Amino acid sequence: MRPYSYVRASDINGAIATLAEAPNAAYLAGGTNLVDLMKLGVETPDVLVDVRRLTSDRVEDLDDGGLRIGAAVPNNDLAADRKIRTRYPALAQALLAGASGQLRNLATTGGNLLQRTRCVYWQDTTTPCNKREPGSGCSAIEGHNKNHAILGASEHCVATHPSDMAVAMAALDAFVNVHGPGGERRIPVEELHRLPGDEPQRDTNLEHGELITSVDLPPLEFLANSKYRKVRERASYAFALVSVAAALEVEDGIVRDSRISLGGVAHKPWRATRAEEALRGGPANEANFHAAADIELEGAEPLRDNAFKVPLARNIITRTLLELSEER
Ligand SMILES: Cc1cc2nc3c(=O)[nH]c(=O)nc-3n(C[C@H](O)[C@H](O)[C@H](O)COP(=O)(O)OP(=O)(O)OC[C@H]3O[C@@H](n4cnc5c(N)ncnc54)[C@H](O)[C@@H]3O)c2cc1C
Ligand code: SF4
Repeated sequence: MRPYSYVRASDINGAIATLAEAPNAAYLAGGTNLVDLMKLGVETPDVLVDVRRLTSDRVEDLDDGGLRIGAAVPNNDLAADRKIRTRYPALAQALLAGASGQLRNLATTGGNLLQRTRCVYWQDTTTPCNKREPGSGCSAIEGHNKNHAILGASEHCVATHPSDMAVAMAALDAFVNVHGPGGERRIPVEELHRLPGDEPQRDTNLEHGELITSVDLPPLEFLANSKYRKVRERASYAFALVSVAAALEVEDGIVRDSRISLGGVAHKPWRATRAEEALRGGPANEANFHAAADIELEGAEPLRDNAFKVPLARNIITRTLLELSEER
């Protein structure tokens, strides 16, 4: 057993200072991901700084009409929030599509965003993995890679990002508020996570010690016409093979605006900006939705076991947009 110490900081600045002094310390929220990885020997922090009581556990109104979600809001509370369900339904649906009821009671907004990949080789310390041990190689590229990336991967890592919630937040143009040793900053969720490039050990653009304090949702009315669809191997308790979060604004049969983001296909929630661009100003019909999905997926580079993700992604983008256009 590896010894580690547990610290409950009294305020945000104290927590940040503790991490700044300890390069191998980590924040602990619900622990549903971090503690599992510590048991597997994948994560080996020597200090855990409990941040669950330091940030807000409320969903609050913002002056601009948007909503602020405290980093400590449990996933189930967020999914049940009336304003979230009515104004940002894709987010509530994404949360309820993840994990199990018990896990969602413990899991927090901050922790969910920063959960690590479910690549089986990353979780198995007996196999080479560039994310766990840079330079050791990637076992997935020639191994079992059904669940891996088809977009934006690199020769160093083909892992996918696992969070359903983050995919919805990326589509909803959410911002993450962060406090760190260098002060406060605000990052679009879309830019929080990274593609692997030649540094697959880095999942996000956060610096060591930066603490997520909240997430802001914008006051865009058409986000109320949004949906999350997830395809997985079991009806519950399984991560996405492919998922889509989409919002659509249609007027007189013409697409005025859209937001589309994909899960299960890349090292980060994949914002489908090329499809969004292709849709703008065109007819809201199946042929156009299909064509826009094809444009987004042109750059897909499937691995041996996951070519099925390309038609699957195309079909769920098309189906979800079609439903959103019919419901309006
Ligand atoms: C069996 C099982 C099935 C699951 N299925 C799904 C699924 O289908 N879809 C899905 O999306 N998820 C799924 N999950 C993952 C689950 O959603 C995450 O474990 C959970 O959201 C993590 O939240 P947490 O608060 O427990 O984070 P923790 O485990 O406490 O922390 C996770 C990471 O975030 C960091 N961290 C936590 N809070 C902050 C903060 N405020 N600022 C900076 N860093 C922070 C920690 O240091 C750690 O690195 C599943 C998990 C399990 C165990
Ligand atoms: S895909 Fe990434 S996480 Fe998985 S084995 Fe390769 S380097 Fe490691």
